[in-house]
Amino acid sequence: MFNATRSYPAPASLAQARSYDGQDVYTELRRIFFDKCYICETNDPHDINVEHFLSHEGNEELKYHWDNLYFACSRCNNIKSTVFNDIIDCCDPEYDAFRAIKLLPPMSPRGKSVIIAATNDHPRTLKTIELLAKVFNSNHTVNKRISSEFLRTKVFKQYNLLLDQIDSFYAPIATPDDKETSIERMKILIKRNMPYSAFIRWCILEDDTLGPLLANDMD
Ligand SMILES: [Zn+2]
Repeated sequence: MFNATRSYPAPASLAQARSYDGQDVYTELRRIFFDKCYICETNDPHDINVEHFLSHEGNEELKYHWDNLYFACSRCNNIKSTVFNDIIDCCDPEYDAFRAIKLLPPMSPRGKSVIIAATNDHPRTLKTIELLAKVFNSNHTVNKRISSEFLRTKVFKQYNLLLDQIDSFYAPIATPDDKETSIERMKILIKRNMPYSAFIRWCILEDDTLGPLLANDMD
């Protein structure tokens, strides 16, 4: 996961309490969440919509409250449903959404799972782990199994971009300029606005050389 910074005041259309996904809401959420689903970090504007962090279940206050509106893909929205109300709030600046959960990519494009591990025992962290396991590793229905395979392949492709740079950095014939270029490219891949940034960052943190070199660039 990644932290997002919510903007204020709330988009004007919410004051009318008629629609929670007006153009102004959608546009601002898209900007705040870097055009990504806040749960799986997929960047796909065709499949992304306004989600209620706490399910409103008819509660008008929750339905139109700016702080309760998030940006999620339809698949994560569907999996989260009304079951996962108490997960990590990535808009809470007090909570480091990225470091709370270690995420490591699949070993291959057809890898059966990703690694998801809590780094603390906060109940919200543990609930989020449960949700992420259903998102990335689910096999509870045929549809979810196939779509989670597809999702893991996309994570792997992003990871592969990183592997190319890691390989160039450590190549025995790498010049200082080559190394510098690889580092600059890795700095792009670890930015919060990039797809699957948590996976990429954790790969870097797992590396004793690259971790210290890039830790300060994890915005
Ligand atoms: Zn998603």
